[in-house]
Amino acid sequence: PIYLDNNASTRLDPAVLEAMLPFLTEQYGNSSSTSHVFGQIAEKAVSDARENVARLLNCRTQEIVFTSGATESNNLAILGAMRASPVGRKLIIAAAEHKAVIDPAERLSAEGYNVCVLPVDKHGCVSAEQVATELDETTILVSIMHGNNEVGSINPISEIAALCRVHNVLFHTDATQTVGKIPLDLSRLEVDMLSLSAHKMYGPKGIGALFIRKRFPKTSLEPLVFGGGHERKIRSGTLPVHQIVGLGAACSICSSNIVSEAKQISALRELLKQKIAERVPNIQFNGHSDNRLPGSLHVSIPGANAEAVMMKLRNQLAMSSGSACTMSSPEPSHVLKAIGLEASCLTTSLRFGIGRFNTESEVCTAADILSPAVEACRQLSGYLEK
Ligand code: PMP
Repeated sequence: PIYLDNNASTRLDPAVLEAMLPFLTEQYGNSSSTSHVFGQIAEKAVSDARENVARLLNCRTQEIVFTSGATESNNLAILGAMRASPVGRKLIIAAAEHKAVIDPAERLSAEGYNVCVLPVDKHGCVSAEQVATELDETTILVSIMHGNNEVGSINPISEIAALCRVHNVLFHTDATQTVGKIPLDLSRLEVDMLSLSAHKMYGPKGIGALFIRKRFPKTSLEPLVFGGGHERKIRSGTLPVHQIVGLGAACSICSSNIVSEAKQISALRELLKQKIAERVPNIQFNGHSDNRLPGSLHVSIPGANAEAVMMKLRNQLAMSSGSACTMSSPEPSHVLKAIGLEASCLTTSLRFGIGRFNTESEVCTAADILSPAVEACRQLSGYLEK
């Protein structure tokens, strides 16, 4: 099948695999065991990878903490910062955040913290003005995602970060969908913490990082994992050297291609949008039309149940009816509800995620095969008679 589910995960870049292989075979040293050459090689590899991550974000190497992925990074940022402050203090998030932000926020609420969930506009975005009305002297942290994993819209995090900085409130952003996709410059962007994940940028699953800005007053975080004191005592556990090398290689490829790749992938997205609009009548495109992730397209197809369309095309086209991370719940996506989609669209929405390895011909084929599948589903639902 044609793979158009790159928001859920991406194919490992062959160059990333090649960089990882030695650390899955002959280079098995522990990066903390630097008294011998095995450990020294591992430590050098980790340190080079950290540099590659820092270079992509334009931050310092000491500001990168490796984690098991963006879920852990978000948990560490949010639980860590809030639990380092007294119960009762305030956290601000938005309604369209990923579950890996919403769930720790709910957990904090149960522990007695004050959690404010900002409503989002029809694109899934919040404004700095909205954040400003909720900031008060008890606010510890604001967490607003960069690019939305479902509808693809991008939040104005630069304004929100600047606002938080002025009020001396910590700002975290879940940039899982944007790191490696659109340029980010942390020397200008005033975020205090940023989450990323390798498997969204052609790296391996199970590895990510949290950027934690070195600043004064110090950002204090209560760790989630205690042990050997790795990662500056913020995240204990023997470093998964091969995974970290994979993340570093993925970042390094993105650093060199990011602008041209974003352009090329946006062009494919626009082509897909145009072809679908031509072939499928009465279709609605969701999310912001310009200010969006390069590869992300989100549609509602009234009368065509998304699961039924996907089932029809299961051997030809891999796409998604929502976020892969909330697949265990049969409920319509909280993001689609938050953007105020009509009830008829909640179960008829599809997400396409275009990535590095997709071609123009795949995109055209996708639109070609989508059209008859939609028509058949609309026929079944009686939509065409209406
Ligand atoms: N945040 C966002 C915005 C995501 O899209 C994802 C992955 N669906 C995550 C967090 C979780 O990332 P990971 O799979 O690395 O835990």
